[in-house]
Amino acid sequence: MNYNSTTDKKIVVSAAQAISQGISNDGGLFVPMEIPKYSEEDFKAMLKMDYKGRAKKVIADYLSDFTAEEVADCVDNAYTAEKFGSENPAPIVSAKRNGNTMNILELWHGPTSAFKDMALQILPYFLTKSLAKKYEGKEAVILVATSGDTGKAALEGFKDVKDTRIIVFYPQDGVSPMQKCQMTTQEGSNVDVCAIKGNFDDAQTGVKKIFTTPEIIEKLQANDKLFSSANSINWGRLLPQIVYYISAYCDLVNKGTIKFGDKVNVVVPTGNFGNILASYYAMLMGLPINKFICASNSNNVLTDFINTGVYDKGRHFYTTMSPSMDILVSSNLERLLYILSDGDDQKVKSYMTALKTEGKYKVDDKIMDRLSERFFGGFCDEESTAKTIKELYEQSNYLADTHTAVAVDVYAQYVEKTGDKETPVILASTASPYKFSKSVLGSIIPKDEICGSEFDMVEQMNKVTGVEVPKPLAQLKNKEVRFNNVSAVEDMPAYVLKALGID
Ligand SMILES: *Cc1c(COP(=O)(O)O)cnc(C)c1O
Repeated sequence: MNYNSTTDKKIVVSAAQAISQGISNDGGLFVPMEIPKYSEEDFKAMLKMDYKGRAKKVIADYLSDFTAEEVADCVDNAYTAEKFGSENPAPIVSAKRNGNTMNILELWHGPTSAFKDMALQILPYFLTKSLAKKYEGKEAVILVATSGDTGKAALEGFKDVKDTRIIVFYPQDGVSPMQKCQMTTQEGSNVDVCAIKGNFDDAQTGVKKIFTTPEIIEKLQANDKLFSSANSINWGRLLPQIVYYISAYCDLVNKGTIKFGDKVNVVVPTGNFGNILASYYAMLMGLPINKFICASNSNNVLTDFINTGVYDKGRHFYTTMSPSMDILVSSNLERLLYILSDGDDQKVKSYMTALKTEGKYKVDDKIMDRLSERFFGGFCDEESTAKTIKELYEQSNYLADTHTAVAVDVYAQYVEKTGDKETPVILASTASPYKFSKSVLGSIIPKDEICGSEFDMVEQMNKVTGVEVPKPLAQLKNKEVRFNNVSAVEDMPAYVLKALGID
C-alpha cells in the first residue's frame, strides 16, 4: 500500500517513506491510496483477539512494506502492561450524567497520562524501522510543536532512541503547570525543550516553516540528518489511533453492552483533528459508526466549520482550561477534505492556499453535504466545562479531566438537539484529571479551599476524591528542571540549528 500527498496526487511514497518524512515535500499530508475494508468475518475474528492482536492486524494492513515480525515487534514493545498499567491499554468505563449513559474510552493510561501515548509509544518503533529501510545511516531530527501533551509524550517515546534527536517547542503561557513540569524535567541524551513567545498555532506554523525551508533541509542533508515529525500530521501517529476505536467496539460487543453490527456514535474532544479522524478511518474500514461528534472548547473554529462549511481562523484565540484543544488551525482536517472530495488534490490545495493567504476557505456543496451527514459540531465554554466536571463527579463518581468534560457536555448538546439518545456512544477520554488538577479540583470544591503548589493540589484532589494519582505524575515532584530556554518565534530556525550543532 502506498501513500499520496493530499495536495499532489502525483507524489506517491511507501509507508516507510511517509513515516520517515512526516510531511510531503510539497507541504501536503500523506494519505493511504486505498483503505482496507474489513468483512464481518474479519471483525468477528478480532472479537477474540486482545488489544495487541487487533493492533497487529490493523497496522499490518497499512504498513505493507513492514514484515509481520516487524509489526509484531513494534506492537509488543509499545503496549506493554508495564507502560500502560494493564494488558488492555484502553479500558472502557461506563458513566452517566443527566440521564445520558456514556462508554468512556480511557486513552490515558500510558507513561505521560494523555492519549498521545497511544500513538507516541509506538511511533519511535515505526520510525526507526522506516529509517533503516529508506535512509540507512541517517539521524532523524524530530521537531514537535505542542499544545502540552504531544510534547511530553513524544519526548518520553523518543528519549534515548538510537539515531534520533527530538526538539520540542511549546507556547510559554499556553500549557498547564503539570504539562510544563513534565517537559522541562525530561530525561534523555537526545532531547531538547524550548518555550516560545507565542501560542500553539505560532509554534506549529514555525515548525512547518522549518520543515520546508530549502536551506535548512540542505544543511541537514549535508550532515546526514533528516527532519521527521511526531505531530499528528505524521501518518504513523494516526494509524495507531484507528486501532482503539475498533478495539473498543469489540470490547463493547464482548461485554454485551452492544450487539455485533449495532451502530455507535463517537464523541471526541478535538484540537488538531487527529483523534476524531482516526475514528473516521475506522468507519471507512467498515466499523459501524453513525455520527462523529466533534467537541471543541471556546476555540470553536471547528464547530463553525461543521455548521457552515466556512473555515475561518481569523478570530480571537482563547487560553482555556483545556489547553490541548486551544488550536485555530486543525491540521488533520486537510485529510478529511481529501477524503470527502474523493481525492481532489487541486481542490484541497486551493483551500489550504486560501487558508494561508486569506485566513479562510469555504468548501463546496458536495463536501458540505457529506460533512453534515456524518459530523455534529458543538463547543463548551469554561463555565460549562467546570459544571460538567462537577455534575459527572457527583452523579457518577467519575472524575473527568477538562478535555473529556468538554466532550461530555457536547454529547449532551447532541442528544438535546437530535433526540438521539438510543445510539450507544463511545466517548474518548483523553487525559488524566491530575494533569489539570487546579481546574478539575476548582470545579468540584470551592476555589478558596484550594491552595499551594501544583503538587499540593494533586495531593488534595487525591484526598478529596480517592482517585489514584498516576505514578509518573507523582514522581515528577522530585525531578530537576533541565530546560528553561525561551525563544522568539522568528528565532526558531536558529534554535534548531544551534541545538543540532550545525549553525
Ligand atoms: C491532543 C489532545 C486533544 C486533541 O486531540 P487531536 O487529535 O489533536 O484532535 C484532546 N485532549 C487532550 C488531552 C489532548 O492531549
